[in-house]
Amino acid sequence: MKLISLDIHGFKSFPEATHIQFHEGITAIVGPNGSGKSNIADALLWVLGEQSVKSLRGSKMQDLIFSGTSQRKPLAYAEVVLTLDNSDRELKLDFSTVEIKRRLYRNGDSEYAINQQRCRLKDIIDLFLDSGLGKNGYSLVGQGRIDEILSARYEDRRLIFDEAAGISKYRKRKEEAEQK
Ligand code: ATP
Ligand code: MG
Repeated sequence: MKLISLDIHGFKSFPEATHIQFHEGITAIVGPNGSGKSNIADALLWVLGEQSVKSLRGSKMQDLIFSGTSQRKPLAYAEVVLTLDNSDRELKLDFSTVEIKRRLYRNGDSEYAINQQRCRLKDIIDLFLDSGLGKNGYSLVGQGRIDEILSARYEDRRLIFDEAAGISKYRKRKEEAEQK
């Protein structure tokens, strides 16, 4: 399984439809501070099904939609499409190319598609389970993530282990229940 391309439109700092082609070997993305390098990694994580806005460096999902500048109006939705080479059939779909699409509107509505077929977020997450690439694959290591792991604050370290063990959602539900 290999990445072929990533198409970003309206996601974070990408108001223009942006096509990123991955070639053989290593791809490096370079640019000045604040130019959107990490936003590309966020787009990849998001299209793979990331649900934690914090992991995408935002405070609410709408922060992922281009919020406008003095020159440009905010956009109505964010869309990311990831195209993968699946000739080795590592993803359990009988297609040599797999295209995953995720779109988010300002009102919170989401759309997901696998090879142009509308699907649920769960279908995308399931597709990548155990593939090593999904959002739980730990194949993407964010800036600051290493520091976070090495952090002296045991509470911060604990959050990472909770997430890895899949118990964060229970903590969240417990907190919600306690507030009621
Ligand atoms: P560094 O080298 O410092 O790590 P970087 O290239 O990784 O920088 P990013 O973190 O990807 O930079 O991009 C940050 C920029 O993205 C900021 O200028 C921020 O304003 C912009 N940005 C983030 N979310 C949005 C949004 N929803 N709408 C418009 N711009 C956004
Ligand atoms: Mg960065």
